[in-house]
Amino acid sequence: MHDVESFRPVAREAIEWIADYLANSRRYPVTPRMNPGDLIDRLPAHGPEVGEPLAQLLADFETQILPAVGHWNHPRFFNYFSSTGSVPGVLAEMLAAALNSNGLNWVATPAVSELEQVALAWLRQWSGLPDDYFGQIFDTASISTLHALAAAREMADPDSRRLGLTKRLRVYCSDQAHSSVDKAAIAVGIGLDNLVKIPSDAEFRLQPALLRQAIDDDLAAGYTPCAVVSTLGSTSTTSVDPIAEIVAIAEPHNVWVHIDAAYAGAALLLPEFQALIQGAERAHSYVVNPHKWLFVPVDCSAFYTRFPEILRRAFSVTPEYLRTSADPRAVSLMDYGIPLGRRFRGLKLWFVLRYFGRQGLIEELRRQIELAQSLRRYVESDPRFELAAPAPFSTVCFRKKTTAAENRWIAAEINRSGDFFISQTILRGEFTLRVAIGNLATTQSDVDALWERVTALSELAPAHCAG
Ligand SMILES: *Cc1c(COP(=O)(O)O)cnc(C)c1O
Repeated sequence: MHDVESFRPVAREAIEWIADYLANSRRYPVTPRMNPGDLIDRLPAHGPEVGEPLAQLLADFETQILPAVGHWNHPRFFNYFSSTGSVPGVLAEMLAAALNSNGLNWVATPAVSELEQVALAWLRQWSGLPDDYFGQIFDTASISTLHALAAAREMADPDSRRLGLTKRLRVYCSDQAHSSVDKAAIAVGIGLDNLVKIPSDAEFRLQPALLRQAIDDDLAAGYTPCAVVSTLGSTSTTSVDPIAEIVAIAEPHNVWVHIDAAYAGAALLLPEFQALIQGAERAHSYVVNPHKWLFVPVDCSAFYTRFPEILRRAFSVTPEYLRTSADPRAVSLMDYGIPLGRRFRGLKLWFVLRYFGRQGLIEELRRQIELAQSLRRYVESDPRFELAAPAPFSTVCFRKKTTAAENRWIAAEINRSGDFFISQTILRGEFTLRVAIGNLATTQSDVDALWERVTALSELAPAHCAG
């Protein structure tokens, strides 16, 4: 039944389809025109008794599945942190699927463990991160941050591995930190009431003086400060917390400092952003998602820590059937986190880093930042609009100086068209439009077209929102 020969012609056709898709993703609507449940209703409720040919699957992929796809590869996809999975990444994913390696420990597939370390060392060097950062790849930043908090818990409350929490631990982040910090606090048993959200300043950065005060207050009240999660490139506005100051406050209390750079960590490849990472040499852990702004297909989250031994203490549990070489170079990544099985994500990261090279990535990131800056200039030079936050990277938050209802209508109309897909956020209580550029195929004319649409809709908005 499993006929490898039948794979050849269909796979060749699939490669042609993929290349065609990537070259012409513009011809699809950015977002699918469908109602919730449409795809479920269209597909059979029960799986087939008898196997079906590959060619049929490929045909149904195009006719049935594609109409329900939101095209992250579309150059006018500006929502979330827009991203592109580049061709070297696609190629590596195919090869990794063919090998089907599970790198649970070193011996299971040495290449999984070793290539992951090589690719992450390159990325670490290019990002200006300290040499003592030990890296591993998880699926998402959420899981990376979960591991940061688990390690922080291990450092602050070493008995917790056996007993559960024995201390009243506290974690700090700004009010702009990602919701994955909340989830991590829930998952490691620290609890949401012990996650202290420090108010951010006018530019949406954590305020160090308020952090210091919160830690002092907690110490006086008998809590144990455990971790600070600082953000380098927050999700709403891409604000950057003052990492060096945060480290200086946390250090005397032996508080773990995690840096969440899921999106903007990519920008550290550019020398002009290196100053943002000052203090990282004294932080404890760091996460950047190469699947966000470094053109690696989802999923690929790079997690680094200077204290792998603490992570190991938190998680190493080795039953006899998983014992492996005692050679210290035979790194078994299962010892440093929750997952046992590990897919070969290092391959796509390695392919992408080699395909672009450091210079190629720098050029592309600068190009995208410049596209975003052109949008920022449109906003700033139009008296009807205002910038809602500084825009240092490739993401711009702005609004029409009018009611929330009008801005909301503009956002909804833009997205309803299927021509663009942008996001929205609430900043200081005000409705805000948010545009993230991250696509290899996005050009100046795409940004110009978006701004034309925004201004045209802005003319119509008062009539639609009257009353
Ligand atoms: C996107 C994002 C995350 C979550 O990323 P996942 O990989 O989807 O879990 C966390 N933090 C920041 C700052 C982000 O922008």
